Amino acid sequence: MAVESSESNKNSIKPDLVVVGSVAIDTIETPYDKRESILGGSASFSCAGASFFTQVGMVGVVGSDFPESYTDLYRRFNIDLEGLQTVEGETFRWSGVYRKNMDERDTLSTDLNVFADFSPELPTAYRSSPYLFLGNIGPDLQMHVLDQMDDTRFVVLDTMDLWIENAREDLRKVIGRVDLLTLNESEARNLTGEHSLPAAAAKLLELGPRYVLIKKGEHGSMLYSENGVFILPAYPLEVVNDPTGAGDAFAGGFMGSLTEMGRTDDEAMRIAIMHGSVVASFAVEAFSLERLENISRDDIENRVNRFREMVRIP
Ligand code: AMP
Repeated sequence: MAVESSESNKNSIKPDLVVVGSVAIDTIETPYDKRESILGGSASFSCAGASFFTQVGMVGVVGSDFPESYTDLYRRFNIDLEGLQTVEGETFRWSGVYRKNMDERDTLSTDLNVFADFSPELPTAYRSSPYLFLGNIGPDLQMHVLDQMDDTRFVVLDTMDLWIENAREDLRKVIGRVDLLTLNESEARNLTGEHSLPAAAAKLLELGPRYVLIKKGEHGSMLYSENGVFILPAYPLEVVNDPTGAGDAFAGGFMGSLTEMGRTDDEAMRIAIMHGSVVASFAVEAFSLERLENISRDDIENRVNRFREMVRIP
C-alpha cells in the first residue's frame, strides 16, 4: 500500500502542538438541514480550533479520494500537514442524524476505509513538540504516538464509548501516561461505574492524570484536579446548526491556548477552558469548519470578553 506524507519534508516545521485524530468525510442530518460529504473528523475540528493560537501539526490519514479543496482549507488554517498520510483507497466516512433536541444523535454508518489500517507515524520534526493532543482514535494508536514523542510537556487524551467498551484495558494504560483526560459525562460514568460526576472524577484521577476535564455539552465543563474543581457553563447560543465536533473544537481551542501561554498551572487551565468553550461555540454555529473558517482571533476574544462578564460574580 502506497503511503506518502501530504507535504514534502523539505521545509519541515516543528509545530508547538501535535494533534492526532480522525479525518473524515461526514454526512450529517439535523432536524433542519442535511449535508452530504462534508469535511469532519476529530483532527479537523481540533487542528482548526488550535490554529487561532499556535502552530499546529496534524497526524492522521486520508484516502486517495480526499478532495484537494479540503487540504487547501487546512492550509488556510495554517495547519502543518507533514504528519498527514495519504494512502491508496477511500477516506474514513461517518454519518449521523441528530434527534429533535440536537443533544442526542444516532450513528447511521461508520466506514473505516483507510482508517482501519492506520498506523500514525510522526515526522521527526514533530517528536520534540512540547504539547500533544491525542484525539479520539483507538487507545493502542494513542499509545503508539506517545511512544514516538521525545519529551512532551503536556499531553491531553480524548476518548469515546467505543473504546471504553471494546478496549478498556488499553485505554486505562494510556490514561495512566497523560497529564489531562477529557471525556463527556456519559463516558465518565461508563468508564468508572459512578453516577456522580465528582465520584467519577476522583476515580479517574486515581488512574494517573493530574487533571480530568468532564464535558457536559450545552451545560459546560468541569475540571477536576487534586486542588478541587473549576466549572464553566457553555457559551449560550440562540442558534446551533450542527453540534458535530464541538468536543474536538473545544479541545483544540483549549490546547492551542495552553500552548500559546506556555504554562500548565491551574490559572492557565481556566483561561484555556474559556478559550476552548468559545471556539466550540463558534464551531457549532455552522456545519463542518464553515464558521471557524470565517472568524478571526479578535472575534474569539470579543466573545471571551462577553463570556467573562456573564460569569463574573461581584
Ligand atoms: P464529536 O461530535 O466530538 O463526537 O466528533 C464528531 C466527529 O468524529 C465526526 O466528524 C466524525 O467524523 C468523527 N468520528 C465519528 N466516529 C468516529 C470514530 N469511531 N473514530 C474517530 N472519529 C470518529
